[in-house]
Amino acid sequence: MNPNQNPDLKDAALIAAVSAKATAARLLLQKIALDFSPATLANSLGAEDMVLTDLIMKDKLGIEIFSLDTGRLPVETYDLMQRLTRHYGLFLKMYNPRNELVEEFVRTHGINGFYQSVDLRKACCHARKVEPLRRALTGKKAWVTGLRAEQGETRSGLPQRHFDEANGLEKFNPLADWTEQEVWAYIHLHEVPFNRLHDKGYPSIGCAPCTRAIEPGEPLRAGRWWWESADTKECGLHSIPVVVTA
Ligand code: SF4
Repeated sequence: MNPNQNPDLKDAALIAAVSAKATAARLLLQKIALDFSPATLANSLGAEDMVLTDLIMKDKLGIEIFSLDTGRLPVETYDLMQRLTRHYGLFLKMYNPRNELVEEFVRTHGINGFYQSVDLRKACCHARKVEPLRRALTGKKAWVTGLRAEQGETRSGLPQRHFDEANGLEKFNPLADWTEQEVWAYIHLHEVPFNRLHDKGYPSIGCAPCTRAIEPGEPLRAGRWWWESADTKECGLHSIPVVVTA
């Protein structure tokens, strides 16, 4: 079990940090709902997105919440979608891939052709994630994600807000400076529903054939596309701006 998943809720410093960061995230979400409408939260059903969903639902903010149903998601992720409906009365807005793109990929490369090369993996991610994401973001002024800077080398230096050139809108990462322990402290303190895969050693939630549990001490995103090197571990959904430090 990942020790960060069960932080000490009697740790006063941790609770104070979570409370301060949750207040900051809440204020930022309120500002997004007010100044960047229509805005949307991309919910991948991982722990961070559950924190953001909880903040949005409790404050009844006018921020849409959507998910990409790639057609290859684990059963635990679909279960969580149903629990969100029971817990918050929330029906996620779902975006599915276009049939013709998936059919073409499978016909040409096979149902699991994404294991053959980085290019084919990215082609599958494009058909099942990137193209549906473009549709989800069409007409929006901003999107919100649960990305955190400490999630891996492809995300270090992640800002809380930047302009997403690829999709042409503002992008907000309200949890950019949160630690994994703070995310879990929030979840337990507020009894937020979470993906059962986390109890099985998955820190990061994605498609079933491309995500595995990690061993203690492995980087947080080691279980995503584990057969690739660390610098390719993004699916095309997120372009992280380079932060230049003096
Ligand atoms: S994560 Fe794997 S199955 Fe999912 S879209 Fe990308 S390559 Fe395809």
